[in-house]
Amino acid sequence: MRLGIFGGSFDPIHLGHLLAASEAYELLSLSRVLFVTAARPPHKMPEADAEARHQMVLLATQDDERFEASRLELDREGPSYTVDTLRQAGKLYPEHELFFITGADAYADLDSWYQAEELSRLATLVGASRPGYDISRMHPFFRERTVLLKIPACEVSSTQVRERIKAGRTVRYLVVPKVEEYLAKHALYR
Ligand code: ATP
Ligand code: MG
Repeated sequence: MRLGIFGGSFDPIHLGHLLAASEAYELLSLSRVLFVTAARPPHKMPEADAEARHQMVLLATQDDERFEASRLELDREGPSYTVDTLRQAGKLYPEHELFFITGADAYADLDSWYQAEELSRLATLVGASRPGYDISRMHPFFRERTVLLKIPACEVSSTQVRERIKAGRTVRYLVVPKVEEYLAKHALYR
């Protein structure tokens, strides 16, 4: 079995995330994709708290049997290092081959990640295309070890979703309806 691991701050989860996961699932014949919400990402400070971000990941993935929302990094102490998540997933799912999915912006700077070389030993690295980013500045070590996926361009980002909400604009069609409802109900990112 082939397990996709898709990590992110998901602040909030949007259609670009779902599309990237869906494309990876299909193009790599995965059995499932785990969406792992980064509780305390080492490189940035999310705006919404981790439980709210995870709740939105649950809402966005619950109607798709290919996807699963994972609490792996929420239930762990300390910074959310991907290398620890991949080690943990390897133990939890010993019968699975692991595929770590990132978008082009994230894989372009994989070499700066904590214990970066170890990542490529624990999982097959997968880089999905993302408008505005290319891999030319990617470290050769990782370029040789990454499966590149050309996926339909979706320009949505969580930053854009947050900025639109602050500006009083709609995020309909950028996030799934249940996430749109959650954002409104909890007055997030206003
Ligand atoms: P932010 O603007 O807050 O950085 P983001 O939209 O980049 O948010 P993240 O949670 O940082 O979302 O990203 C999680 C993963 O999803 C990363 O690997 C990122 O490259 C990928 N990703 C996010 N949006 C897209 C998109 N539109 N197309 C392809 N990959 C994406
Ligand atoms: Mg990002």
